[in-house]
Amino acid sequence: MTEQPKAIRPDPFQALLPPLGLYIDGAWLDGTGRFPVFNPADGSVVAEVADATAAHAEAALAAADRAQPGWRRLPPRRRADLLHAAHRLMCAREAAFVQTMTLESGKPLTEAQGEFRLSADFLLWFAEQVAHLHGTYANASHGGFRVVVTHQPVGPCLLITPWNFPLLMIVRKAGAALAAGCTAVVKTAQETPLTGALFMQVLHDAGFPAGVANLLHTRHSAAISEPLLRDPRLRKVSFTGSTRVGARLMELGAGNIVNSSMELGGDGPFLVLDDADIDLAVEQAIICKFRNAGQACVAANRIIVDRRVEAAFTARFVARVRALTVGNGLLPVDVGPMISARQRDRLDAVIATLVAAGGTVLAGGRAIDAPGYFFEPTVVRFDAPNPVMCSNELFAPIATVFAVDGIGEALAFANASRYGLASYVFTRDLDRAVAVGEALEFGMVGINRGIMADPAAPFGGTKASGIGREAGHEGIYEFLERKYMAVTVREDRGDL
Ligand code: NAD
Repeated sequence: MTEQPKAIRPDPFQALLPPLGLYIDGAWLDGTGRFPVFNPADGSVVAEVADATAAHAEAALAAADRAQPGWRRLPPRRRADLLHAAHRLMCAREAAFVQTMTLESGKPLTEAQGEFRLSADFLLWFAEQVAHLHGTYANASHGGFRVVVTHQPVGPCLLITPWNFPLLMIVRKAGAALAAGCTAVVKTAQETPLTGALFMQVLHDAGFPAGVANLLHTRHSAAISEPLLRDPRLRKVSFTGSTRVGARLMELGAGNIVNSSMELGGDGPFLVLDDADIDLAVEQAIICKFRNAGQACVAANRIIVDRRVEAAFTARFVARVRALTVGNGLLPVDVGPMISARQRDRLDAVIATLVAAGGTVLAGGRAIDAPGYFFEPTVVRFDAPNPVMCSNELFAPIATVFAVDGIGEALAFANASRYGLASYVFTRDLDRAVAVGEALEFGMVGINRGIMADPAAPFGGTKASGIGREAGHEGIYEFLERKYMAVTVREDRGDL
């Protein structure tokens, strides 16, 4: 029999503090023990949250399954009203979200605020989309019946999110799933459960029915996801994280033919052509590389610069990197810590590998001796393309710059990767921008800009970077299935 966890906070009483339990079937419940959430800026414990077991996961899926028929039957306008209410509540709690994100992920307050506002925009986007989903109506090719196509929710979903954008990743998945009429079990990342808890409290306070959205935190991700993916009640998994884990989840879901959307790793090439606006390229490379201390799937992973402008670009870029301030995100700094000591400690070996492959360290290169998990903003230059950086996602405040001879070499190096998420090109020539953009084997191309996420844009990658798109006009369809009804029509009736 499923374990019946004890309710520890049945009624929300403090909207600004994240609840610490698991949210299952409309109530905050205790887990089996608790685990600490650390502040990566100083290693201190921010809070201890409930730890879910497979039994909690089963209870969450059972609740989502029970809630599914009622949720999908709710008129779209009513679902939209709930999402709008959640959006308003979320906006009223901005300060709590921003502070919590900085405390548990380390990102500077300004970045947390940027993530918060973008997340709120995504929720609004989905709220606006709900009541505007269309079907089609057509004559069968030889007449005699009509082809009526509409969309129906896929069914209960498992949404697994990473720590690097602890709010955006949840809102982008849960907003679309709930708008589509699916119920959801959200699994937060172990490092950043508190932001997800604040979001779930928003949904609770907005009046979402019990079981429609559920939240699990756990130290045992595999033990939770494996039985869920084998459970026939689960109809969809949407995952953001590493390619290794995404592939494993697809394997697990294969037996059950679970519909899968995957947002996985990236190897972002950032191309600067010889006619680029160098100041613009430098400014955008700084944002694209060092936002979130480089821990972003869309980060510029390889900065590929035409040799004719490389010296000018690198000199300005290195000067900007050296001026970046690093520290606790609660202070006005440019770059925060890595998410964990383990993530920081792997970087010494990364630098050694880059240097052994012929790279020259022009800035940074070392961990910072402080209680938090800081690493110096770093630039490593290569005089030519180098295979050491093909399919090698750094996920760190380490920029690699490569001098290349012309567009052909730049494109060949950019595409020599198993990944295909975000890419960037800087040029003043529109024809070259379009030609290069079309030749880049990536799901997204930023032209003269290093930040692309927007509710109106379909976010996602090709190759090992994933399957499916989030947001844009198509994102909601990841959570919908086409339903075709063939309607016999007697066309020979004389009375019509
Ligand atoms: P990760 O794959 O280790 O973890 C991501 C999530 O999966 C976390 O919630 C984690 O707890 C969970 N997880 C881990 N093992 C699991 C298992 N066996 N079963 C079920 N869940 C499991 O990734 P990470 O290191 O936390 O995040 C970094 C990776 O995520 C990078 O490769 C990055 O590029 C990618 N990412 C991609 C996007 C995108 O939109 N494409 C966005 C952010 C991050």
